[in-house]
Amino acid sequence: LTYALVSAVSVLIIACPCAMGIATPISVMVGTGRAAELGVYVREGDALQALHAADLVALDKTGTLTKGRPEVTDVRPRDGFGETDVLRWAAAVEAQSEHPIGAALGARAEERELALPDATDFEAIPGHGVRATVEERDVAVGAARLMERHDVAIPAEAEETADRLADAAKTPLYVAVDGTLAAVVAVADPIKESTPAALDALHTLGIEVAMVTGDDERTARAIADQLGIDRVQAEVLPDEKAAAVDDFQAGGRTVAFVGDGINDAPALAQADVGIAIGTGTDVAIESGDIVLMAGDLRGVPNAVHLSRSTLRNIKQNLFWAFAYNVLLIPVAAGVLYPAFGLLLSPALAALAMVFSDLFVVGNALRLRRLNVPLGGEQAVATA
Ligand code: ADP
Ligand code: MG
Repeated sequence: LTYALVSAVSVLIIACPCAMGIATPISVMVGTGRAAELGVYVREGDALQALHAADLVALDKTGTLTKGRPEVTDVRPRDGFGETDVLRWAAAVEAQSEHPIGAALGARAEERELALPDATDFEAIPGHGVRATVEERDVAVGAARLMERHDVAIPAEAEETADRLADAAKTPLYVAVDGTLAAVVAVADPIKESTPAALDALHTLGIEVAMVTGDDERTARAIADQLGIDRVQAEVLPDEKAAAVDDFQAGGRTVAFVGDGINDAPALAQADVGIAIGTGTDVAIESGDIVLMAGDLRGVPNAVHLSRSTLRNIKQNLFWAFAYNVLLIPVAAGVLYPAFGLLLSPALAALAMVFSDLFVVGNALRLRRLNVPLGGEQAVATA
């Protein structure tokens, strides 16, 4: 009876699954801490686990791949319109816009020291452009879609000008005055320094890269070619970005979406993992599972790498915690007693359990020293 009792107590102690219980949370906790060091704030522990399976990373363009601070590069007025007038009117309308393109036109007008007239009846049409009344003229500034909407005919030569600008990776805009096309204007948004290296690292990790943007199709393609992006979805209206992500998912892909704007929020929520740019809008940050603190895109491949390592670490923990129990339960139950007279005392059993916990904790702590593909420490330094 004594032997039976001692063995029973030892078995109970060894069978305690404490190491298995902590195997996942401890790795996620250490992985999350390491991510924070790399400038990647993981809001949901689940996201760190989900990201390992991502095989497609879709990125917004403006403010994500690019700096989000476009500058006016060209103003091409049509016959009968002066460059100064066009710029004044367009900038007057854009003064009320919250879009970065608006700021670009405003900055150019300021550079030229133009006094801006008042604009009334302002209207912003998301993904299209803006219009207002300036000096008793109806002025519209935006994409070809906006001109179509207001029945403004785009002459062939203006379209050619726009195409040429778009092929040079600039975003062409049209300015219409009282229903007549007055000018083609182009803005260009510089690519972030961290973007090319981040995309290369994603490719090295075997992940396909897609761009989802509201920008002009040709502009988007020109930028995608420069950056070696695999897929392009351009001229996507703000409320269609989530549908684009849904399409990828319907094709069997596990999608991580990276974005910064208000219009990216639904796509961030729809994606398997939403990665928000920390320098972006509050709505986007709120919708993301992971936030890149300094907006540095190198955080994306780093997070994927960390996620894969964390998952591997969890599996190791579970394997060893399980193996420990499988090996020691029979010993505690007395399999070695008949042959060798060996029995595991409850005190030794307790010690053994402490060791299995320590083993799991020690293994998880290795994640703290994990090296990532792109030295993310710089990302924190710039934060
Ligand atoms: P994204 O942020 O992906 O570039 P948006 O949906 O904000 O896309 O804008 C898409 C397009 O709509 C722009 O490329 C531009 O052609 C036009 N547009 C939007 N807002 C404005 C604006 N305030 N002024 C001029 N054009 C605009
Ligand atoms: Mg954006």
